[in-house]
Amino acid sequence: MTLPLLEPQLPFYDDELAQGYLARTGQFHTGASLSQFRGYWDIGVKDIRDGTEDFVQALSALSGVEAEHIRYNTLVAKPDGNFTLRGEIFNRPFVRRGSVTVCLECLADDHAKAGWNPGSLRFRWQWLLRPFVCCALHQSQLVEFRRVDSIDLFDIEQLLALNDIEPGDVATPGDKSPGLLQQYVSRRFSATDKCEDWLGTQTVSGVVKASEMLGALLADGPTAPIKEYGPSDWARVGDIGFKTYSAGTDTILREFKRLCTDSGRSSGRAGPQAAYGYFFRWLKKRNMVDGMEPLRSILRTAIVENFALDAGEVVLGETLPARRMHSANSLASATGISKSRISMLMRKAGMLPATAKGASLNRWAFPADAAEKVIARTQEAVSLRQVRKILGCSVTQAERLAHSGLISPIIPVTEGQHGIRAGGYVKEELEQFLANICNNCGGIDDEVEGYLSLWGVTCGRSSTEQILEFQLKGEFRHTKLLKGVSRIDHLRFNKDEVKAVLEELDPDFTISAGEVIRILGVQTYTPRRLASPEHGGPWLHEVDQTEYRQRKGKLRFSRIEFQKFQERYIKAAAIGRLLGISHVEVKKLMADSGILPIADPVWMGAWFYERKDLLRLIDNLDETAFPISELKSAAREWPNR
Ligand SMILES: [Zn+2]
Repeated sequence: MTLPLLEPQLPFYDDELAQGYLARTGQFHTGASLSQFRGYWDIGVKDIRDGTEDFVQALSALSGVEAEHIRYNTLVAKPDGNFTLRGEIFNRPFVRRGSVTVCLECLADDHAKAGWNPGSLRFRWQWLLRPFVCCALHQSQLVEFRRVDSIDLFDIEQLLALNDIEPGDVATPGDKSPGLLQQYVSRRFSATDKCEDWLGTQTVSGVVKASEMLGALLADGPTAPIKEYGPSDWARVGDIGFKTYSAGTDTILREFKRLCTDSGRSSGRAGPQAAYGYFFRWLKKRNMVDGMEPLRSILRTAIVENFALDAGEVVLGETLPARRMHSANSLASATGISKSRISMLMRKAGMLPATAKGASLNRWAFPADAAEKVIARTQEAVSLRQVRKILGCSVTQAERLAHSGLISPIIPVTEGQHGIRAGGYVKEELEQFLANICNNCGGIDDEVEGYLSLWGVTCGRSSTEQILEFQLKGEFRHTKLLKGVSRIDHLRFNKDEVKAVLEELDPDFTISAGEVIRILGVQTYTPRRLASPEHGGPWLHEVDQTEYRQRKGKLRFSRIEFQKFQERYIKAAAIGRLLGISHVEVKKLMADSGILPIADPVWMGAWFYERKDLLRLIDNLDETAFPISELKSAAREWPNR
């Protein structure tokens, strides 16, 4: 049938749905309902409901509005089950079915403008989309009308009549302004240019659903009661989720990581199920075409990066080709090393926080590559006896280096033996240390007059560690290597140069405040405080000034007394190096065990603890997280610097 142009023409607005415009056209020209009106012109119910091309052409002919304009604002059901409207694609749950929502104030405005003539009430396309819960113009909540799913839902005038409502007579529900998610959806449907960014490349319904599900997890946790959620709950969590979801992959991953850590702390239960609950189960069940692939893919990454899963395990539909993360447990069973030593090593490598212990220990995962490298380094670690061969020095010299902290074991390796002697020195580190010493030395073919070995220059006036420290600092410019070989026993020091440098220090048995500051790494005023009788001191005695007239006014201590001080006290930072944690964590652990520093640390300019208190602290440590007996033997001689 050729359809006539109905006159006068009824304008078509950009904010209205084409199906609603057809109903309005019928009311305006004939006063008939949509059902009757479409019968006059033989327009199929299915054509209207699905927004077919026949519908578009018929409405264009009757109204005189360009088909293209009508098509743009038509809700179209596509054969694949999705819908389109205004250039957006979305799935079925995104569309209200069996109900519409309206803004009674918008309708009252329509009425007032048209002088209460029929055909004035516009069906805003927003009212058919589930994410719209309030009117942005009137800041009021939308009112829902339910009706068996039929084209009657498009006929606002009929719908109000059936419900006996006159717009303007009914009070509109309270103040409400659109949340972030609704604003976003509104922007997308209103934009003429589609954006190709992170969200723009996803379907609008995918973005909404992902935001809602993510928001429920973030707001209400892994046991969020999503089955009990009503529309206002979904709007609430949708806004929360959108904030994170719209920020992109990195932000979402960060939140997933946090949830993983939180769940471990509280329950100690492992696995994605504990951290992500319903959210994980829900994504596990999804098929591949529902627009959730971006979110599923991010969660998969989060799981692979935060949980110790074995190769071959299936994560959200994909098989893990290789192990990415280890836990203390999985690493222990893979290497045969005890769990407490693994925890210790991982802590030293900065992969495990000091707070992880007991049940939650196994919740922490570390990158498998890096963890295996740490373990491999320990397996290859050498004893102090072997250190001697690598560095080319005597046993005594090696011990001096270890005591002074110039070289330090990563961890005492053998149970029951003393830490420093028992080994656990990393070969690579020793080689680096040697390279640093020998780097700038020129070579000589034979012994040269005026040049002495390390033993030769230390004899009677200095120590191994002191000379090597000066060498490391570049104080000796003339040091040579015999035959160019980088070993400590091949070092040849210029006698005069060494003498000159040492003479600036003291040849006698005292030690200057400056050297104490340097060795301890403390504030300039700390040596003075150590010698003060205040706050329970002194801890070190100033050497009698009368014996050192020529150095009057300068604070000095006895070397022997300082040695004893070092044996008796230990700094928080040194404890941190022993336990593989930060000095801040040391202070906290100490405070938790009721152990105080020897004096007010602010006044002192340093946190010194008694070494016997350190032993007490070690006794209180969690034995699944720290190898207690090894730490205790190491603690007795751990360098304080
Ligand atoms: Zn309104």
